[in-house]
Amino acid sequence: MFCDLHTHSTASDGTVRPELLPQLAIDAGLSAIALTDHDTTAGLPACAAACKALGIDFVPGIEISADPLLDTSPDPANDDRPRVGTLHILGLFVRHDDAELAHVHDRMLDSRLQRNPLIVERLNALGVNITYDDVLALASDEGTEIIGRPHIAQVLIQKGYVQNIKEAFTKYLGQGKPAYVRKDLFTAAQAIDAIHHAGGLASLAHPVQLKIADSDALYRYVATLKSLGLDAIEVRHPDHTPDVAASFQQLAQRLNLLTTGGSDFHGKRKDIPLGSQHVPWSVYDALRSARPAPQY
Ligand code: AMP
Ligand code: ZN
Ligand code: FE
Ligand code: FE
Repeated sequence: MFCDLHTHSTASDGTVRPELLPQLAIDAGLSAIALTDHDTTAGLPACAAACKALGIDFVPGIEISADPLLDTSPDPANDDRPRVGTLHILGLFVRHDDAELAHVHDRMLDSRLQRNPLIVERLNALGVNITYDDVLALASDEGTEIIGRPHIAQVLIQKGYVQNIKEAFTKYLGQGKPAYVRKDLFTAAQAIDAIHHAGGLASLAHPVQLKIADSDALYRYVATLKSLGLDAIEVRHPDHTPDVAASFQQLAQRLNLLTTGGSDFHGKRKDIPLGSQHVPWSVYDALRSARPAPQY
């Protein structure tokens, strides 16, 4: 039996509606799925209901973007300190109506609404003729309020500026590329605390995206996250080669962390099928057993 513990729906930047994911999961031979949309729990009730109706296990989740800078000493004069890559924290078994997660949602929505027009401005300055209204129209068609760079990438495809999402990121939208604008983020501690407040387990998503090449430095970084309350790390992910996944499995053992895994399914927006990481049921079982008792 297999599970997939990292998926996105139209509640953020996936292209499949949350109530339609469970049937796809069954078609892919899965017995449990987590829905982990970026910074929102909006899709969870609909996905939960469909899982229940179809008889597969559901893990309510979220993926919170956090500031990879662990040195959080106040330094307002210099907010451009060098950062490692991307830090995303998955929350699994979260309550969808938790107040702290609602706060995460509200603040990240605000942060995206500030950043996205600035990205469009940069694109315009580069001679790329799209408008912020084009982006809003696409998001509105898809029924999401969590507008991310993949939506902007989609507009770039529609207008013929790039062939695909990957090209949009390598040419314009990725970190360090000419239209990249950093968004205001929570600290890792805040993201982990919010997930715990919601009764969930916190897992370091796709650790390879941290882009910490040195294994000792990575160990220290993840150990610091653990001291902040991190419960698990994601071992199986499409960005991890088998060797990389094996090294994260070892890291989890050394630090006594649980493991998670998933396809990071985004529907048509990424070329990765649901269930393609073949995450064994034992991974789900260990998480389920470790889950803190619900505090109602
Ligand atoms: P945002 O949260 O708006 O900054 O967008 C982040 C999302 O963009 C990620 O969750 C990925 O789905 C997608 N993304 C980030 N980098 C890339 C990339 N190089 N190629 C394709 N998609 C990417
Ligand atoms: Zn995404
Ligand atoms: Fe992510
Ligand atoms: Fe993701």
